[in-house]
Amino acid sequence: MKVHEYQARELLRSAGIPVPPSEVIDNPNQAPQAYLRLGSETVVVKAQVHAGGRGKAGYVQLVTSADEAKSHAARMFASPMVSKQTGPQGVQVHKILMAPAVDIAREFYVSVVVDRARRVPVLMASSEGGVEIEEVAARNPDAIKKAWFHPHLGLSTFQARALAAAIGLSRAKAKAAADIMYKLARLFQEKDCSLAEINPLVETAAGEILAIDAKFNFDDNALCRHPDIAALFDPSEENPAELQAKEHNLSYIALDGNIGCLVNGAGLAMSTMDIIKLHGGSPANFLDVGGSVTPEGAVEAFRIILADPKVKAVLVNIFGGIAKCDVIADALIKAAKEVGFNVPVVVRLEGTNVDVARKMLAEAKVPQLRSATDLTDAAKKVVAAL
Ligand code: GDP
Ligand code: MG
Repeated sequence: MKVHEYQARELLRSAGIPVPPSEVIDNPNQAPQAYLRLGSETVVVKAQVHAGGRGKAGYVQLVTSADEAKSHAARMFASPMVSKQTGPQGVQVHKILMAPAVDIAREFYVSVVVDRARRVPVLMASSEGGVEIEEVAARNPDAIKKAWFHPHLGLSTFQARALAAAIGLSRAKAKAAADIMYKLARLFQEKDCSLAEINPLVETAAGEILAIDAKFNFDDNALCRHPDIAALFDPSEENPAELQAKEHNLSYIALDGNIGCLVNGAGLAMSTMDIIKLHGGSPANFLDVGGSVTPEGAVEAFRIILADPKVKAVLVNIFGGIAKCDVIADALIKAAKEVGFNVPVVVRLEGTNVDVARKMLAEAKVPQLRSATDLTDAAKKVVAAL
């Protein structure tokens, strides 16, 4: 789960990391008052969306008057932000953060992630902050300094100090940065994060060390331990179809293609997408209805798949192991009645009670249904059906 920058800043504050004060607004008319309350001539106006690259997209803006704050806020609320991370349709801005602008001398990058190869968390820091870290990693990997730490013992203070020195800070500034790194690593562990990032961590002209942008990702599987974090969830940032699927315990991820996939089991869903590609097609989604798929789940899955206007054909690929094929056939017939099939639906069933299931489907005479004998046959038929 992701959160907004203003929520991330609150988390940093609660951990004792220095963050400038800020105001959050949800319409441009609130901008002038917020500007005045901040009491700084130069104020930074920042769109709050679950995507980075805001600076380059023009959605991080320095302003020097209440009027200017209002007009830039109005611009950001009015049109979706398009950045490298959003796709061409962009993302709608619902909230804006305003903060006294900081006089930046240097920008650093600091984050904690899980190093999958070493199977431990790693603290990373770089003197090349502000810009995309992926770029730094590709161009100049030595500029990223790392310290691995034990998931239970945590980061040691000496590791934090060594890293602060390695990115070119000395004395009081290194001490302040090390303190921030230490607290960030603790936050990462305490809140079951998969990412805790400050970019940029800045050194101000006056020599202060401050966090002025932060990003957190939380492990969904651990949210049950953190009601305070779960409460930060913002449904308006999610794909509505993915939300609907989540409510019905379906694992659904929307993709760009035009062949809807309804599959049980994540592994089978992956192979189904692969074989569609192999035969020249392109999947419109990943959908795992679960090993023990119910008729209600299957009907809901059809509702979600067919609501996507990009979908021009559907491939149903079910292996009746825990679920029985006749139950699936029943669900398909139900879905045809309740949802209505407006595109061809190719069905490949295999496993327990498959003969009964095939007979049921044949007798139901749903015009859009086509049965396939195996996975290759199914992939060929669905691509041909386009
Ligand atoms: P992102 O592009 O979505 O990561 O948004 P950031 O909050 O990181 O802002 C992008 C860039 O805007 C930063 O790297 C800074 O260079 C600049 N910026 C953000 N806040 C301030 C500020 O208070 N003062 C100044 N001078 N620049 C800022
Ligand atoms: Mg940033």
